[in-house]
Amino acid sequence: MNIGQKILLLLKDEIPEIEYNRYIKHLIYDVKKSTSDTALFYAPNSLVLNWIKNKYSAKIRHLFEVHDSSKVNVKILLKNQVESKKSEQKKEQKHQHSLLNPSHTFENFMVGGSNQFAYAAVKSVSEKAGVLYNPLFIHGGVGLGKTHLMQAAGNVFQNQGKIVIYTTVEQFLNDFIRHVRNKTMERFQEKYRKCDVLLIDDIQFLSNKEGIQEEFFHTFEALKGVGKQIILTADKHPKKIAGLEKRLQSRFEHGLVADIQPPELETKIAIIENKCKINKVVLSKDIINYIATVIESNVREIEGILSKLHAYSQLMHVDIDLPFTKNVLKDQLQENRANLTLDIITQSVAKDLNIKPSEIRSKGRSKNLVYARRIAIYLCRDLTQNTMPQLAQYFGMKDHTAISHTLKKINELIQNDEDFKVKIEELTNKITSSS
Ligand code: ADP
Ligand code: MG
Repeated sequence: MNIGQKILLLLKDEIPEIEYNRYIKHLIYDVKKSTSDTALFYAPNSLVLNWIKNKYSAKIRHLFEVHDSSKVNVKILLKNQVESKKSEQKKEQKHQHSLLNPSHTFENFMVGGSNQFAYAAVKSVSEKAGVLYNPLFIHGGVGLGKTHLMQAAGNVFQNQGKIVIYTTVEQFLNDFIRHVRNKTMERFQEKYRKCDVLLIDDIQFLSNKEGIQEEFFHTFEALKGVGKQIILTADKHPKKIAGLEKRLQSRFEHGLVADIQPPELETKIAIIENKCKINKVVLSKDIINYIATVIESNVREIEGILSKLHAYSQLMHVDIDLPFTKNVLKDQLQENRANLTLDIITQSVAKDLNIKPSEIRSKGRSKNLVYARRIAIYLCRDLTQNTMPQLAQYFGMKDHTAISHTLKKINELIQNDEDFKVKIEELTNKITSSS
């Protein structure tokens, strides 16, 4: 029996039994948190709490003094208050790094030429943690599935009962700062070194932050030293991350560096079909194709569109057909196009056709120059608000009739040549999504 329990029993002898049973009996003494000057009890509800506080706390204090020779403050707290505080603390602890998204699985990840290397690398690491490629470094543009892939491995490990930490560089940094401030760096180090698998997202944000790079380096070495798996992502190759310590850069390259490229059309279609299935949205083949051609690369954008389509159709009680889809996507496309300039378009066309932008705007008459120039003019007309005289001036042509002649030619080609039509669509996508 602890001292608190003893005191309560002594109290029992001094008060009416009915009061003891109704109130005192329900008090719980906290041995651990009580100190030489505070006796801490928990009451099951505020009624009991207030009753005892008003009527008996002086008595309890007196009993402590007599039987324990200690002068204590009697503190009574609500039991569930403490519990909710505890669970809040737990929650907070949990949220110092994010949880894995359970739908980020390998099954939900559509594989195509653009991402199969990264996919294969992550998949094999998930089958043999710490052995094959350590660290595994995945890089690629926004919304191409880096986080998804990394978490897919994380989910596999977690299901095996391994301790997985997933965090962004930003959260890692905040956590670090917090522990420095609270002077609890050992806890920080212990936490990150105790895990079996460390997933750190968006490594490019380490750039030019020396303090955290130092700390990260030691965490990295400690984990790597004992064969714990590390997976990292970034928007670029470690070599291209400016302001990254040489030693970190070389560590990052030491395992395997895998890139993800923008998805090709078939992969995009597969992704859209998969997202439709998951989100229970039914779309016809031509709509799926349309979305896949309109959205160049960012898969996150595709998701946005699907939920927009779904929401609109629910709100307006209409089925999703192609005209409806085009209408919904119009805003999105206009947004993408708002920043386009004649220079940007000309440069993109030149790059795609392997010629110089200046050649497109020159008077050169060779076949491939004329071809490129016509395409550039068509796209400039289609994607910007420039008038025909403005275009004529930009492309060094006599007047607007030359432009209108060119547009006519291209429109004919689009109508009669399926390959050419696809080519124009592809270019349009490239240009609108890179702006
Ligand atoms: P990143 O981290 O590269 O910016 P994310 O992993 O966050 O991109 O991916 C953005 C969204 O696109 C996520 O919802 C993800 O599930 C989805 N996604 C990306 N690539 C694929 C893919 N190949 N198959 C299925 N979903 C994908
Ligand atoms: Mg990401």
